[in-house]
Amino acid sequence: MPVLDESLVPILDEVVARNPGEREFHQAAREVLESLGPVVRKHPEYADAEVIRRLCEPERQIIFRVPWQDDAGRVQLNRGFRVEFNSALGPYKGGLRFHPSVYLGIVKFLGFEQIFKNALTGLPIGGAKGGADFDPKGRSDAEVMRFCQSFMTELYRHIGEYTDVPAGDIGVGGREIGYLFGQYKRITNRYESGVLTGKGLTWGGSQVRPEATGYGTVFFADEILRTAGDSFDGKRVVISGSGNVALHAIEKIHQLGGRVIACSDSDGAVVDEAGLDLELLKEIKNGHRGRVSDYAAARDGARHLAGGTVWSVPCDIALPCATQNELDEDDAKALIRNGCRIVAEGANMPTTPAAIRLLVDAGVRFAPGKAANAGGVATSALEMQQNASRDSWSFDYTEQRLGEIMRSIHDRCLETADEYGTPGDYVAGANIAGFTQVADAVLALGV
Ligand code: GLU
Repeated sequence: MPVLDESLVPILDEVVARNPGEREFHQAAREVLESLGPVVRKHPEYADAEVIRRLCEPERQIIFRVPWQDDAGRVQLNRGFRVEFNSALGPYKGGLRFHPSVYLGIVKFLGFEQIFKNALTGLPIGGAKGGADFDPKGRSDAEVMRFCQSFMTELYRHIGEYTDVPAGDIGVGGREIGYLFGQYKRITNRYESGVLTGKGLTWGGSQVRPEATGYGTVFFADEILRTAGDSFDGKRVVISGSGNVALHAIEKIHQLGGRVIACSDSDGAVVDEAGLDLELLKEIKNGHRGRVSDYAAARDGARHLAGGTVWSVPCDIALPCATQNELDEDDAKALIRNGCRIVAEGANMPTTPAAIRLLVDAGVRFAPGKAANAGGVATSALEMQQNASRDSWSFDYTEQRLGEIMRSIHDRCLETADEYGTPGDYVAGANIAGFTQVADAVLALGV
């Protein structure tokens, strides 16, 4: 069980005191700091330069008003955020989340995770996150466009291809990136492709970017299997969520011979023992922005668990791909009881700390999001490379690069875990490898 090194207790206390009420950020900071005991003992230079304290304080936090008009002509108001957390390795990089739960604590947790995730990719990108408490559910296309335009009317002054490069996250996909990019271009009179990633293919986007987070998570899980001399072939898999990450994870698992038998949304889960029909699911989710209950209604043999989750469905592998803290202790117990052997996080921090402890103690191989879901931002960095060179790569080449990056992250986690005396521990490996890479850059760049 991870314990916080005594020398790091005051640092976590300071994080809590400086960021009152931001419990997701406290949780994310604690999770990283708990891995750093062996690092501070081996590298006193980090403590001497206050590197850990400096990494826990965002370089810049922007909060802004987003007024917009709904279809009935009423003026609506939301709050926008961009937390530029750390730029030691490159321009700030990280997604935008539009969801009613968004507040500063969520953005800070996501931005903090992003620093280490981005470092693990080995590509030159710093860490950031942003978003708004806007709920796109039930909003018309025109309302989403007006919201995105208002959001960018403030955000544009803080971003740029060498400064800060946002992308999507929950509630922000290709449509929203289009409206945001259009407004940036209008205001600045610059076709600055590298200012946003997740763009459409005809206007500066990269092949594989929509697939990348889901595919990457599956590539990571595939490496865990391979390390044990195994493969996805014939495996039963459950996936939470049914958004971009989940759908592409399902696609890749089916290509690799596994069978995804359950997925979910905020209303419940769907179980389909024959294996989910991805075409039908895509049509329902992407075609009509429908629900998984519609899938259950349309498909023979599928059942809907109203208000339920996928974690009670017996499986070999579970991929939480929805949102933070969605997999708790009871869920972990059900997974263990039913024989699950691998949990890899496609979402950011979807497993609670107590659930992680139970899984790891039961011998389940657990891959944390900052390693397992890094494929999305890694492919964003590949999009930035293509934009910088005014080039565009083929699907196969881009997917091959993504595969190499995920394998390299996997191997680095295991090598680092070995080096620091916690063999096989992906959480410690990811935290330490990500941290030391950023910390060395912070030291090199001076105070
Ligand atoms: N939102 C994604 C993540 O959590 C991707 C961010 C990006 O591509 O910049 O990593």
